[in-house]
Amino acid sequence: MAKLQPVRGTHDLLGEDARRHRHVVETALGTAARYGFSEIQTPIFEFTEVFARTLGETSDVVSKEMYTFEDRGGDRVTLRPEGTAGVARAFISEGLTQDLPLKLFYQGPMFRYERPQKGRQRQFHQIGVELLGVPAPQADIEVITVGADILDALGIFDGIILELNTLGDTESRGAYRTALVAYLMDHRDGLSEDSLRRLEVNPLRILDSKDEGDRAIVANAPSFGDYLNEASRDFYGTVKEGLDTVGIPYRQNDRLVRGLDYYCHTAYEFVTDKLGAQGTVMAGGRYDGLVETMGGPSTPGVGWAAGIERIAMMIDAPAAPARPVAVIPVGAEATITAIKLSHDLRKSGLAVEMGYSGNLGKRMKRANKLGASHAVILGETELEKGVATVRDLDTGSQTEVALDRIGDHLKAGS
Ligand code: ATP
Ligand code: MG
Repeated sequence: MAKLQPVRGTHDLLGEDARRHRHVVETALGTAARYGFSEIQTPIFEFTEVFARTLGETSDVVSKEMYTFEDRGGDRVTLRPEGTAGVARAFISEGLTQDLPLKLFYQGPMFRYERPQKGRQRQFHQIGVELLGVPAPQADIEVITVGADILDALGIFDGIILELNTLGDTESRGAYRTALVAYLMDHRDGLSEDSLRRLEVNPLRILDSKDEGDRAIVANAPSFGDYLNEASRDFYGTVKEGLDTVGIPYRQNDRLVRGLDYYCHTAYEFVTDKLGAQGTVMAGGRYDGLVETMGGPSTPGVGWAAGIERIAMMIDAPAAPARPVAVIPVGAEATITAIKLSHDLRKSGLAVEMGYSGNLGKRMKRANKLGASHAVILGETELEKGVATVRDLDTGSQTEVALDRIGDHLKAGS
């Protein structure tokens, strides 16, 4: 029999956790909308091909982390490990290639088979943006700026720093890759097994390795900056100038990469030291070759994704929902009046709780437990007079109010 527990690395979201999560999504969506991003929701699973091709067979995500299965019809499908591939797939299959530039915002669950720890889950959630169709660095500036504004609107920008790097264009990147491989070949004895494999197929990824031996070697590896051609330097210069202009500070990080071949130019991460080892809050870059890799027309793109759980841990708790009013009927006859009154009050915009059973004492206790601001008591004498007793649960003072005046009375805050 299946264990009655959530699958390792998955979590139920309720109460304050759910409110934090929702606050992150709504704040992000609202901010992104002001930049002209509109929401896209892609399916949470795609044909495995969509991810295998875009993320590369050698990436950690594809080789170790994907939830892939064959469905009953014999199709190989994968629970999405990230959002960009699905958005690019939709861009092509929905025929959006004539609608450029296109600005899309997404949010939702992602799935990766990883070792669960603080800030790392098997089902986690991301918000993300993609800006398609703009080759100029203005797009990079705008995408980074909207990310920073979202973190700022959530009140956490102060504890976060933007790390920035450039991979340059195809030519610069190729030159760097050659230099990097030569350097790593000289140090191959100290590389981890994973990195030895990457050395052949995806050497840039080694810069991103978490293995300590790898990291020591990588610390002295050549820097992208020394291999940039003029066009790439100009591009990067414009991005930095834009960030200076809007007042977003950044730190140059020569080791920052996005490992896959279709990435170029700007790479960046918003990082914090407030979350322990899992310090990357938001990560992104320019991926001019991606859409073409997937079989679409050559289309430049730039975007980022951010982990909602990591952000949710950093924000202040959002306001709790409005305190309810407790409507309390005493006796069977009052019940139907209470149902009608509760309905009317809810329609007028108030939050109302109605005890479902028990005597006055029990229901008052329940009202206090729910944090109700007032109790509206409907007893026999009240019913005869067409009133209810409204008790302020903070002060204990109470007063009789005509049934059709209760909404106004409560809203007047008295
Ligand atoms: P890491 O190096 O931490 O594994 P990554 O390079 O795999 O990160 P991305 O694919 O760039 O991460 O995802 C973007 C963001 O999504 C991360 O910066 C992080 O905030 C969040 N994220 C990624 N994987 C997880 C996970 N397993 N659990 C929670 N959040 C995650
Ligand atoms: Mg990862």
